[in-house]
Amino acid sequence: MAARTRILVLGGGVAGLRAALLLAGEVGCRAQVALVAQEPAFAFPPALFHVISGKLSPAEVTLPYAPLLSSRGITFIHDTVLDVDVVERRVNLASEKQLAFDFLLVALGTTPTMAQVPGMSKQALPLKTLADALDIQESARQTVAAVRKQGGEQRIVICGAGASGVELAGELRSLADEACRDQEVSRERVRIILVAAGQRPLPASPETVQDYALRALVSTGVELELSNPVVAVDGRQVQLSRGSIEAQTIIWTGGNRPNPVLETMGLRVNSTGGIFTNGYLQAYGANHVFVAGDCVHLSDQWQQARFMRKNAWYAFQTAGVAARNLAQSLRRQPMRAYRPWPQGFVGVATLGDNDLLFLGREAGKIHVRKADAFYRWLTRAALFVYRRTGRSWLPWRHSASPVPVAEDASATGEE
Ligand SMILES: Cc1cc2nc3c(=O)[nH]c(=O)nc-3n(C[C@H](O)[C@H](O)[C@H](O)COP(=O)(O)OP(=O)(O)OC[C@H]3O[C@@H](n4cnc5c(N)ncnc54)[C@H](O)[C@@H]3O)c2cc1C
Repeated sequence: MAARTRILVLGGGVAGLRAALLLAGEVGCRAQVALVAQEPAFAFPPALFHVISGKLSPAEVTLPYAPLLSSRGITFIHDTVLDVDVVERRVNLASEKQLAFDFLLVALGTTPTMAQVPGMSKQALPLKTLADALDIQESARQTVAAVRKQGGEQRIVICGAGASGVELAGELRSLADEACRDQEVSRERVRIILVAAGQRPLPASPETVQDYALRALVSTGVELELSNPVVAVDGRQVQLSRGSIEAQTIIWTGGNRPNPVLETMGLRVNSTGGIFTNGYLQAYGANHVFVAGDCVHLSDQWQQARFMRKNAWYAFQTAGVAARNLAQSLRRQPMRAYRPWPQGFVGVATLGDNDLLFLGREAGKIHVRKADAFYRWLTRAALFVYRRTGRSWLPWRHSASPVPVAEDASATGEE
């Protein structure tokens, strides 16, 4: 009997998990699908802010891989990928095991760029995983406790005012307010300061959205230090280009860089963390390697590449397209080119307890909703449905706008 084709999915985030589940359905018993992830459970990143503020419990936003994947005949490998030899088709793991593959689907996401600011990686907390979210929550609570014990005031400094920094500031204000009430500490004595290099928060959004976010944050008591980049962190001192702030808790939300594993693969990678792919989401120069999620850098020659953002929605879409194209490639059938959809909308962000922002290119028109109760209900409802029906929810077939069928299915077209 011929050996089964080995398909290896690297990463168990939105992209990797969806791709693995779809692949298992697409290839059936023709191939063996395995997924490698360094965490034991999938955690839904957009919900981490609500874990920090205590509105959702860790169990409500996580889904353990082992039972879900084994029920679909997928092998789960709980390990850390060290490097990948694309030519020899081998992956080296931290456990010193080696995995061989015929096809690879890379969905390793990105990692925080803390190393660019001296002292940042040593002192600041990143926000990427559930463990990071719980560390931030604990540190914020300790900050309030320190005020109660020592008197005076304490500061929580968030470095970076993109969507993550803005959303975190709102949720931390909400957490600190509750902790201050519980511990009978005046809220003004726990200051939350959002620091940014740019003149406004949310640099990727239209001005109307930026202005709204600015006003909403200030009205909830978040302080903003704009046009004043962090140059170094020394102990508890956050040194800015003008002045410095002493902080009990320092958090980095200033951006991400390519997952270091990508650099070992010998593939072309851009500065923001993407492997250059063609429209079928195949890595250039390696037809047996498909890419999904934040690791994708869709080459500009493929129309609409400029609309792609690193977010959960595009991770979900690219996973679907990459998985199906991999399965088509295995069957020697034509692949389909990926077209990001929709092209103006990027996402939503909550600002503490009261506001919801729509972020994105066209979002200025619909940027504000007073939606606390509604959004929280929606988040809880979505998570409830997702946890109950996780098996069928993740591999949903997305109905994007019509996707052109590739004229030349085998073409990978070097740039
Ligand atoms: C706090 C936070 C909030 C966000 N909020 C939103 C939002 O509201 N809306 C939105 O659209 N997007 C949001 N995003 C962005 C969105 O979550 C990402 O764009 C999306 O998750 C990317 O999916 P991915 O599968 O490509 O990567 P990831 O979700 O980063 O998954 C990468 C996977 O690879 C694994 N991995 C990494 N390195 C290794 C290794 N060496 N070995 C083994 N496994 C490894 C990780 O454990 C993980 O399973 C948020 C992100 C964060 C961090």
